[in-house]
Amino acid sequence: MSHQYDTIVCGGGPSGWVAAVASARSGCRTALIERFSFLGGAASGGYVVPISGCFHNSATRVVGGIAWEFISRMEALGAAKVEYPRGHVSFDPEYYKLVAQRMVLEAGVTLYTNATVTGCTVEDGNIARVQIFSKNGAEELSAATFIDCTGDGDLCHMAGVPMQADDDEVQPMSMCFLLEGVDLTTDLVRPYIHHNGVDAKRSANPVIHQYLADLAARGEDVPQFGGPWFNTVLHGSCVAVNITRGVGNAIRREELTAAEIKMREDAFRLVELLRKGFAEFAHCAIVSSAVTAGVRETRRIVGQHTLTWQEVLAGGAQDAVAFCSHPLDIHKNNDNQQKFAELPVPGGIPYGVMAIPGYPNLLAAGRCVSCDRSVLATLRVQATVMALGEAAGVASGMRRESGCALTDVDVNELRARLRDRGGIVEV
Ligand SMILES: Cc1cc2nc3c(=O)[nH]c(=O)nc-3n(C[C@H](O)[C@H](O)[C@H](O)COP(=O)(O)OP(=O)(O)OC[C@H]3O[C@@H](n4cnc5c(N)ncnc54)[C@H](O)[C@@H]3O)c2cc1C
Repeated sequence: MSHQYDTIVCGGGPSGWVAAVASARSGCRTALIERFSFLGGAASGGYVVPISGCFHNSATRVVGGIAWEFISRMEALGAAKVEYPRGHVSFDPEYYKLVAQRMVLEAGVTLYTNATVTGCTVEDGNIARVQIFSKNGAEELSAATFIDCTGDGDLCHMAGVPMQADDDEVQPMSMCFLLEGVDLTTDLVRPYIHHNGVDAKRSANPVIHQYLADLAARGEDVPQFGGPWFNTVLHGSCVAVNITRGVGNAIRREELTAAEIKMREDAFRLVELLRKGFAEFAHCAIVSSAVTAGVRETRRIVGQHTLTWQEVLAGGAQDAVAFCSHPLDIHKNNDNQQKFAELPVPGGIPYGVMAIPGYPNLLAAGRCVSCDRSVLATLRVQATVMALGEAAGVASGMRRESGCALTDVDVNELRARLRDRGGIVEV
C-alpha cells in the first residue's frame, strides 16, 4: 500500500520535532503536524525555561544525540547557556523556535504548522490516515508509521489506545509569562536564577515565596501560587516567570478554559503584589503570556511496558533507550508546595514505554508515554522527552527498512543506532 509519508509525527513540541528530525535522518519521508505556528511546544510557546534533565548529580551527562546538538547550536548563537554543574540549560524561546525550525527543515521534514490533528482512521489494526484541520479545511494524510507527540496523547486516544486510569489526579497547570524590567542585580532574585554567577541552587525563590505566604496568612487577596521561579531568557532584565497555578485536567476543554481565565487574572494580581513588595519589581511589566497554559500531566498510554517508580529507583534498564535524571517533582493542587526527591541513579527508560500492544504502526513519545505518576514527575522534563523523541524517530526508520511491527523492534539494534548518533543508552 503506498502512503504519502513513511512517518507522520503529530505534535511539534520537544519530543515531536526531535522525533521528526530523527525519522527524516533515518531515511523516512516525514511529516510533522503542529497546531501552532512554531515548534517547541511548552518550551518555546509556554515559556518553560530551562531545559532540564541533561545531567545526573551535576556530573554525568545522560542525554546526547539531537537534544545535545540542538543545545550546542543554540549556544553557538548565544541563545542557550548550560549551567554547570547542574546542567540546566537556559535559552531564548524565540531562538528556540528558529533553530528547531532550521533543524527540521534541514533534515527534509515536511512541516504542517497551523494544523490540528482531529482524528484518525484505523484499518486492519493499523492507523491508515490522520485527519487534520487548518485554514484549508479538513485534509487527510497517510503514512506507514505514526508517532504521537501531542503531549496529551491525542492521536492514541483517537485510535482507542487504553490510557492509565489515574488521570483524575493530575498536577496543576501553570501559565508562565515573560516579565520585563526586573532588577536582577540584587540578592533578591539573582541568587535564585540560573547563570547567576553565584552558585547553582534550585531556583525557587524562598524570599518571595515567604512574602506571598505571609500576605495570604494575613488574609490578603493572594492567588494560588507555586515557587515562584524566575528564569533568565538570556537577555536584559527579562525573566520567564512560573508562579501561577490552575487546578484541572487540560484534556477537558471546560477545565482548561477555566484554569487559563483564572491564571491570567492571577498573573496580573501576583505581579501587582511583587511591585508593591519589592523595589526590584517596581517597574516591571508582563510583556507576553504563554500561548496556552503549561500542562504538566494529562493522559498517559498503557504501553508494552509501564515504567514504575521502583524500576526507576533501581536504575539503568538493560534495554534503556533514554535516561531520566531530574528529581521527582510533583506540584500539589491544594497548597503552594511540591513533593520532591532526588534520583539516586539515572533511571533507564525502556523502549516499551512508547510501543503499544495491538498497534503495530503507532508509537507515543514525550510526556504521554507509559509510566506511573511518580515516573512522569521526572521523565516529563525536556531533555528526557527529546531523547525519547529521537528513539521513536529512529525506530520508525527501522520499521521502514524491515517492515516489522513497532512492538517487535530489535531494541539492541535501536540502542546501537542511537549510540552511533551520539545518543546515551548506558551510563
Ligand atoms: C509550568 C511548567 C514548568 C516546567 N518546568 C520545566 C523545567 O524547568 N525544565 C524542563 O525541562 N521541563 C519543564 N517542564 C516540562 C516540559 O516543558 C514538558 O513536559 C515538555 O515540554 C513535554 O514535551 P512534549 O513534547 O511531550 O509535549 P509539549 O511540550 O506539550 O508539546 C506538544 C506539542 O503538540 C502540539 N499538539 C497538541 N495537540 C495537538 C494536536 N491535536 N494536533 C497538532 N498538534 C498538537 C502542541 O501544540 C505542542 O506543540 C515544565 C512544564 C510545565 C507545564
